[in-house]
Amino acid sequence: MSKVLVVGAGLAGSEAAQFLANKKIPVVLAEVKRIKLGPAQKVKDFGELVCTNSLKSKDPNSGHGLLKTEMKAFGSLILSVADIHAVPAGDALAVDRDKFAKEITTRLSNNELIEVVDCDIIDPIEFAKEKGCDQIILATGPLTTDGMSSWIQKNISGDDLYFYDAIAPVVDADSLDYSKMYFKDRHKPVSEEEGEQADYLNAPLNKEEYENLIAEMVKAEKVPAKEFEDWKFFEACLPIDLMAERGPETARFSCMKPIGLEMEDGSRPHACIQLRKENLLGSAFNLVGFQTRLTYKEQVRIFRMIPGFQEAAFIHLGSVHRNSFLNAKKLLNFDLSSKEFPNIYFAGQISGVEGYTESSAMGLYVAFQVWRKIKGLEPVQFPVETGMGCLVNYIMTNQKPVPSNINFGLLPPVTLTKEQRRDRKNRKKVKKRLAAERARESFEAFLATGVEL
Ligand SMILES: Cc1cc2nc3c(=O)[nH]c(=O)nc-3n(C[C@H](O)[C@H](O)[C@H](O)COP(=O)(O)OP(=O)(O)OC[C@H]3O[C@@H](n4cnc5c(N)ncnc54)[C@H](O)[C@@H]3O)c2cc1C
Repeated sequence: MSKVLVVGAGLAGSEAAQFLANKKIPVVLAEVKRIKLGPAQKVKDFGELVCTNSLKSKDPNSGHGLLKTEMKAFGSLILSVADIHAVPAGDALAVDRDKFAKEITTRLSNNELIEVVDCDIIDPIEFAKEKGCDQIILATGPLTTDGMSSWIQKNISGDDLYFYDAIAPVVDADSLDYSKMYFKDRHKPVSEEEGEQADYLNAPLNKEEYENLIAEMVKAEKVPAKEFEDWKFFEACLPIDLMAERGPETARFSCMKPIGLEMEDGSRPHACIQLRKENLLGSAFNLVGFQTRLTYKEQVRIFRMIPGFQEAAFIHLGSVHRNSFLNAKKLLNFDLSSKEFPNIYFAGQISGVEGYTESSAMGLYVAFQVWRKIKGLEPVQFPVETGMGCLVNYIMTNQKPVPSNINFGLLPPVTLTKEQRRDRKNRKKVKKRLAAERARESFEAFLATGVEL
């Protein structure tokens, strides 16, 4: 009887363990956090969302919506628990992170087929032997512990394993001055009563306020990079201070863009900072896109320059963190097993994807391939037109290993009619809709070939 060792009870590992247990495959789930929390972790529960509480868009015609549709077909644990503990966030699926992680922990711990072991795994092959496991899934995530990182480097990856990412601050809702801010979701009408309709609180900045804020960020003290490390950031998650350094207008065309955030009098601020609720009570807000390398002292000083933030109390400040991932193209097969050790699979962010939903999806993808192997079946390639298929295709073909979120750029292009091409205003939207429709059809056709999930 096959038994699978899953290392890491984060998003990918939790999905993988639950999927295999649903298939009646016994699992040993090894997790270190109850012995020692990682640098970005705050709770001992599994499936922790370490930064924002959002699993991104629910819109079936968005990249994240596509992935969600496919994950549901696999019986995703993460999505079913997220639905139960969802908090309002417009089109996004955001959750009460504590309840979410608690429930994932309870479900996995109560599963008779899953043996949870609290352990910092260093040599997964040795540990698998000890536990009688014949397949291994490494889902140790962006903050893989040092021992395991060294083992992977020594045995699989060589030196090419690290890059850096940054975390956004969270502010206490009671400490804000609401007279200087307004509730509004992008491109939706202003709420009539504060907090009643909109999920986002906005801090509008005039030209002078914006320029001062950017100038201070450029001048401010940053946490220095450690020894050998050169900063390699994920482009879609750049620290706000790095954006400021790239140019005075960069942030205004990114997380501080005011488009669709017109105020009650119809005027549009020069720039805008969006705050998203951290929990159902709305007792804390996340500064959207404000991940940062600034020192704590500088963050407090500079972020208190934001309108409404004069007395701001921060529940936690932004920080810099290590992010580990593999060069999948060089080191893995398309089922994400190691070329060197075919019984070792990599799932989640460490495989080269980026994001909560993407990592969870890769947990399901890998568990599915392991299950097929246990049944004596060949690995199966997903069509590149599907959400999961395009993610795997990306990490397996991209020349330079750069972790990526799901986005329409990863899907093969769709052809528009002449008429659709001429409609400049709606062209982009139509393209996305067509690509999403094709992805759904492709996924259904894939299942119709008799592939059992
Ligand atoms: C600080 C930070 C902020 C991020 N913010 C966001 C965000 O806002 N939105 C977003 O979509 N994505 C974000 N990401 C990216 C990423 O998608 C998430 O970190 C996601 O949780 C990755 O899922 P995972 O399952 O691959 O890894 P994780 O969820 O990190 O799970 C890995 C698990 O493995 C355990 N582990 C590690 N090493 C060992 C070992 N040797 N033995 C046993 N257990 C081990 C860890 O304790 C952890 O529980 C962020 C990443 C970081 C680091």
